[in-house]
Amino acid sequence: MLRVILFDLGDVLTLADTQRTPEVFTLRFGISRLLSECYFDRPDYMALARGQVDWDSYCQRLREEWGVGISNDEICEAHAAHVYALDTGVTDLIRDILTKPVPPEVGGATNTVHPQWTRNITLGVEDHLSRVWRSDTQGALKGDEGVFARIVTDWIPCEFRIVVAPEEVLIVDDSQANCAAAREAGLVAFQYTPCKPWPLEEFLRGCGVL
Ligand SMILES: [Mg+2]
Repeated sequence: MLRVILFDLGDVLTLADTQRTPEVFTLRFGISRLLSECYFDRPDYMALARGQVDWDSYCQRLREEWGVGISNDEICEAHAAHVYALDTGVTDLIRDILTKPVPPEVGGATNTVHPQWTRNITLGVEDHLSRVWRSDTQGALKGDEGVFARIVTDWIPCEFRIVVAPEEVLIVDDSQANCAAAREAGLVAFQYTPCKPWPLEEFLRGCGVL
């Protein structure tokens, strides 16, 4: 029986298009396309996602590397632009899960796709999740060695105040690598296809949580 379900944010709970960020950098803030199109491939971006550099240092390094005078808020605006909508197919499923008499705990687990996560509060993601595991606060990405095991042994007991076995935890993620890493650690994983909630719904019914 599932006792905890953790939903990925990027391309599961939210819809994302990484092409939108370079467009904002270029069309709104005048950054050359050559630079802005490499934004998500910069090594600093992964360091930010692992919490190895904070947002202020990250923005400063970007300004130095690009040689431009762009503010932290403008970088944030361009960065956050790639997450543009909720996948209401998924949020509807979460609402249904939570109407069960004894629902599992529902949270999120995300490799921080938008470091200024609160900027996206208007999307309403936080209304659907009681807790979110974030790579930048945990110092590791979901697919990193041992992370899913630690989510089960450390993070869930700390955040939800329950002790669970790996097989009682479901990860819903669009990344094949993350799903494979979760299964490797003994968790249940469902690989989600954006905008296609029906197979997930069927899976959740099969698990008895819908
Ligand atoms: Mg994702």
